[in-house]
Amino acid sequence: MTVESGPTPWRGYDTVSADPDELDRGAEFDVVVVGAGLVGLATAREILRRQPETSIAILDGVAPAAGASGRGTGLVGPRIGPGIDVLERRFGSATALRSYRASERAVEITVALCRELDVEVAESAQYVIARTAAEERMLFAQMGAYRRLGVDVLACSRRGLADVTATPVLAGLAYRSAAMVDPARLTTALARRVASLGAGMYHGVPVSDIGLHGGRVRVQTGRGAVAARSVIVATNVPTIPSVARRVGGIAGLTVFGAATSGSAVAGPAERVGSAFIGADPLAPFHATRPDGSTTVGGGGARSSIPGSVVPFDITTWNWLERWARITGAIGKNAELGYRWSGPIAVTADGLPVVGPVEGMPGVWFMGGCGGHGLAMSAYNAGAIADAVSGPGGRLVDLPWMRSRAPGPRASRPVRAAVGGYIRVRTLAMRRAQSAAPVRTTNVQREAGDRK
Ligand SMILES: Cc1cc2nc3c(=O)[nH]c(=O)nc-3n(C[C@H](O)[C@H](O)[C@H](O)COP(=O)(O)OP(=O)(O)OC[C@H]3O[C@@H](n4cnc5c(N)ncnc54)[C@H](O)[C@@H]3O)c2cc1C
Repeated sequence: MTVESGPTPWRGYDTVSADPDELDRGAEFDVVVVGAGLVGLATAREILRRQPETSIAILDGVAPAAGASGRGTGLVGPRIGPGIDVLERRFGSATALRSYRASERAVEITVALCRELDVEVAESAQYVIARTAAEERMLFAQMGAYRRLGVDVLACSRRGLADVTATPVLAGLAYRSAAMVDPARLTTALARRVASLGAGMYHGVPVSDIGLHGGRVRVQTGRGAVAARSVIVATNVPTIPSVARRVGGIAGLTVFGAATSGSAVAGPAERVGSAFIGADPLAPFHATRPDGSTTVGGGGARSSIPGSVVPFDITTWNWLERWARITGAIGKNAELGYRWSGPIAVTADGLPVVGPVEGMPGVWFMGGCGGHGLAMSAYNAGAIADAVSGPGGRLVDLPWMRSRAPGPRASRPVRAAVGGYIRVRTLAMRRAQSAAPVRTTNVQREAGDRK
């Protein structure tokens, strides 16, 4: 299940495992959680906070932090799904605003969780930036929506941004409530906390099937079957066929990261502790951590099959490194000490799926968060815990609290189509980024120079 493509800067934290031999054939639990990433672990914690006597088993095919949660770049920020303008158009102003506020709340909850677990968290600013004319148009549309909704997101001009990043940028939007964290440390600390609250944490236990049997949910593992009243499938990409069939089109992508091994701030203009994220979802980003090390990511993706091993993608890493040096995202002599990849799960409309699985009473699916899963995990966990523990099983009314994603599930032909689309988009994005113009911007004209 792991995608072991190279070391991240955040490896080597202890986790705890119960003895899988305890999973005797016929074991019964109130709740089984499949997947020990941030989503599964945070949900187990939220259920135990509400009902401490609940018996919970957490089953992971590998171990906590083996998936995306241990391989992310650690940027915690607001926003969910597509741009706010798209959410507004699709769901109306009130729902777009509630979605954005939920994502802000998600940041607060994640920062509070880090503090509770004694995991270092650096509060910082996040800038979503435009380096190309296409990205600039995206930002302009988003800024219009933020204004209409009365959301306080600051539009930044090229001159204003020159004070905070050494890289050439046309325009940007600044989000003040954001943070940086070591995602593997957070995930493993959460695993230890959940175990200390009484959950059984089982590593190396892949789940191959989920079905209904005698009024209970039956979970088939590599070590026999266990039963539960409720099962929460938190595998990010749906890897269990009976569940995947029902949750619709969630595709697995592999995305890439790299980091310097030491301090690598390109110059005095670079604001340490800030993240600069391209407006195009595939565009590269960079973040300078409080210790001066720099993380870069994006710049392309590959369609992947969950559970398969993804080879090194030297082309993407080389492109990313060249981009980071040319733009000044990292200092000229900085050494890139880490190059890695990891899985993300995406839907056609950019929104996750968090809700009951159709036709399988007692089974819930949580996944498809794309690149926003770090903050949204703890938020979605609270919502599912309320529904699982509370009377009536009701979910809050947000667009991603739903049973399925639009479109067919990611079967082989669909995966091939997604792969082809991503390859073409990656090439187009790289060409545009390499030739990014620098000129006066729409956002700048609209916002005025705020310096
Ligand atoms: C390179 C990279 C950079 C990223 N950067 C950011 C970022 O800066 N900010 C941000 O918000 N998000 C980021 N993300 C996304 C974020 O990491 C994810 O959205 C989030 O971690 C998803 O958590 P999860 O618990 O749903 O999935 P995962 O962490 O993938 O957990 C799923 C778990 O399920 C297990 N599993 C799967 N199938 C089975 C099965 N059949 N049986 C048993 N176990 C199974 C896996 O082993 C895994 O441990 C990034 C992701 C990557 C890969």
